[in-house]
Amino acid sequence: MSSQGESKWVYTFGAGATEGRADMKNLLGGKGANLAEMANLGLPVPPGFTITTELCTHFYANGRAYPPELKTQVADAVARLEAAMDAKFGEPANPLLVSVRSGARASMPGMMDTVLNLGLNDATARGLALRSGDARFAYDSYRRFIQMYSNVVLDVDHHHFEDILDGHKRDKNYSLDTDLTAADWQSVIEDYKKAVERELGTPFPQDVQEQLWGAIGAVFGSWMNARAITYRRLHDIPASWGTAVNVQCMVFGNMGEDCATGVAFTRNPSTGENAFYGEYLVNAQGEDVVAGIRTPQHLTVAGKIANKSDLPAMEEVMPDVFNQLNEVRLKLELHYRDMQDIEFTVQQNKLFMLQTRNGKRTAPAALKIAVDLANEGVIDRNEAIKRIDPASLDQLLHPTLDPKADRKVIAKGLPASPGAASGKVVFTADEAEQMAGVGDAVILCRIETSPEDIHGMHAARGILTSRGGMTSHAAVVARGMGRACVSGAGDIRIDYKNKLMAVRGVTVKEGDIVTIDGSTGEVMLGEVPTIQPELSGDFATLMGWADGIRRMKIRTNAETPLDARTARKFGAEGIGLSRTEHMFFDPARILAVREMILAESEEGRRTALAKLEPFQKKDFVDLFTIMAGLPVTIRLLDPPLHEFLPNTEQDMDEVAKATGTDPLRVRHRTIQLHEANPMLGHRGCRLGITYPEIYEMQARAIFAAAAEVSKISGETVTPEVMIPLIMTKKEFDILKAVIDKAAAEVKAATGQSFEYLVGTMIELPRAALRAGDIAETAEFFSFGTNDLTQTTFGLSRDDAGAFLPEYQRQGILEHDPFQTLDATGVGELIDLAAQRGRAVRPDIKLGICGEHGGDPASISFCESIGLDYVSCSPYRVPIARLAAAQAALNSDTVKRD
Ligand code: ADP
Ligand code: MG
Ligand code: MG
Repeated sequence: MSSQGESKWVYTFGAGATEGRADMKNLLGGKGANLAEMANLGLPVPPGFTITTELCTHFYANGRAYPPELKTQVADAVARLEAAMDAKFGEPANPLLVSVRSGARASMPGMMDTVLNLGLNDATARGLALRSGDARFAYDSYRRFIQMYSNVVLDVDHHHFEDILDGHKRDKNYSLDTDLTAADWQSVIEDYKKAVERELGTPFPQDVQEQLWGAIGAVFGSWMNARAITYRRLHDIPASWGTAVNVQCMVFGNMGEDCATGVAFTRNPSTGENAFYGEYLVNAQGEDVVAGIRTPQHLTVAGKIANKSDLPAMEEVMPDVFNQLNEVRLKLELHYRDMQDIEFTVQQNKLFMLQTRNGKRTAPAALKIAVDLANEGVIDRNEAIKRIDPASLDQLLHPTLDPKADRKVIAKGLPASPGAASGKVVFTADEAEQMAGVGDAVILCRIETSPEDIHGMHAARGILTSRGGMTSHAAVVARGMGRACVSGAGDIRIDYKNKLMAVRGVTVKEGDIVTIDGSTGEVMLGEVPTIQPELSGDFATLMGWADGIRRMKIRTNAETPLDARTARKFGAEGIGLSRTEHMFFDPARILAVREMILAESEEGRRTALAKLEPFQKKDFVDLFTIMAGLPVTIRLLDPPLHEFLPNTEQDMDEVAKATGTDPLRVRHRTIQLHEANPMLGHRGCRLGITYPEIYEMQARAIFAAAAEVSKISGETVTPEVMIPLIMTKKEFDILKAVIDKAAAEVKAATGQSFEYLVGTMIELPRAALRAGDIAETAEFFSFGTNDLTQTTFGLSRDDAGAFLPEYQRQGILEHDPFQTLDATGVGELIDLAAQRGRAVRPDIKLGICGEHGGDPASISFCESIGLDYVSCSPYRVPIARLAAAQAALNSDTVKRD
């Protein structure tokens, strides 16, 4: 073996000399480490050896050259296999055959395909035929080898071989590969070899050493092929990891009717059911099972019945081997403590294990498997919680298309907001609302959407746009509301005037029914039945476990009763952000809002505000009632006023008529309110400073609602009034006085006493820096991370789409900071503000709202700086509950009571 001072590049496994372990994946790759582990467990693994990933790194660091000692180490390892198998590599009378398999740390499509039956040439094939007494098997193996090796190592296209085989089958009137006799295969082989020589100008290699080193070189070479490089880039896999090469003695599934090859999952990967699930083929080799040449058969009788197969199950055909395989299944699960994806071969009724790894699974299966394994005592509950990817829960929270239903896809856009929805096509937000009002399910179809469409988006089951990306208004709002949305379906031409849309010869008129799938981007004609999400069972169990250990509270961003109810159903523990302006877009109120904006005097404004006040109060009564004593944070008016004004000439005239104003004045006021940079303009608390009567009305409505609900329900309602966009303590104090005065008035008028908090959103760097002063009077901070990200980066979210992808591509920004909180920059400001706030007011309530509140990585950051809660859109509440539990587990801040 390797002498002193030399690096060790080769690790053996099987036949009583296994050097690797499961935890050596970095060095041996996933396949090699698990082959070693199975051998350690005493499972029947054909012996072999692994050339390490370090060799791959060495290879590329040294101009694609091997270290000199590799030759001897490989030769020694081959000699060990010869001894174990009592055969000799390249020896005609008794040849040793091997497979050469690649294997990186993480399974990686794009790497070299496996070469089987290596070591065959004209002489050894003849020897194998004689020795095995089965010439058909020997020549079947040889033709497979020539095709695989030529394709994978020598780069000769498959079709040359397929054409030849098809020709032979046609001549002989065969339908199956297994119909070919030894003599047939021999003449196929002659044609194969000729084709190789014609393509390459040199004969197919007969020297087995040349074959072996050719295959090893091809594996290492494939690490840098275009497919592998692209895959690594997409999956953040560093090029420095390298791949390993596994050389393993062949076992044969193609030696006759008592031989087979198969793949299996230790549990059902789509449902998670604890039932053996897999397929096999008799008298076959390698990937015949997945290649689709023959119809694979089921392992179990149950699987056969469930899939309506009339081919016999392995359980029936090879009961002994099946039982053995089933024991291996149980052993592997107990050992790896997770569902396994396994590959095996049966040679003359003897089972051999060729691969195991943790199996991929659907989101429902992942939940079921984690909960079952915990209940079986294989893992503990904390482990079960950690096993679920919070983002995957999204798949479970929305209706999905019935997989059995037919669908007629007419167009494809972007999967902007998950879930499936069917309904009548409408082209305006008002129509959406009207039709939904009389009980119709509608799909709102727009070229693109704007804030004026919010009420229609709410009323619709789903939203379809022909323009705009994943972060377009439609996409962002739909995700927030949990509506299904397909955006940017560019093939669809929407014609508002004629109330129809057309795509490739299909015309869809207003009132026609379509179905959209926001998880795939598909648009379908007619109604496709959907399945409602199941929030009980394993989902509820796992969420209960997560709730038991998380420290942070999870609130929701909601302003409509529907959203608030949905969020509570998903487990929200209060409202962290209720945006009062969303209520202003309601058609019943927008007129009063516009009247208020158009008013020239405080008195005019007060008259309009008085019309709005009962509506606002009703909004809050609803929210407080639904939230039944849970905290509710209400943000006072935030957006610049011009957002509420009409933007088309026609709309302006309508507004003028309805409010009894001169149309010219409406236009004039619109121009007056226009701002060069509205995001940093007259908005947030700046409106409260200039028009205190607006905040006064809102505060009165909040307190009147709190008094009313407290009185009726007996539940103590404690509203949290939030002032947006504070930059100085002085601003805050002026507005807090307005709010306190409104509270006192309501108390006096109703005779009802109630508690309330007044706090602010921290969304400007200055506010974060001056958090110490502000906390002297502010009773809570909610970090408005959308705007805080915009203002910290000096980056407009609405305009960043044009260049942010390039920033990510060049590695300047690792993530989109609007999706995942920038922990080092924006995060530092939040941490600093939290500390300065707490220093002044130790019990100050701290939370975040904004898109980040539902992002697992951002939630983990919030845990690390000890925030009290995160607030996110209703459909992300379960994701946040789980992510908060995982964050607590990872930072060891688990709730203990
Ligand atoms: P992949 O990574 O694409 O799954 P593998 O290296 O696992 O490639 O090889 C594919 C298949 O080839 C295996 O599932 C197995 O059926 C077959 N195979 C690989 N090595 C051997 C071997 N030593 N003996 C018999 N079959 C083998
Ligand atoms: Mg493959
Ligand atoms: Mg495999």
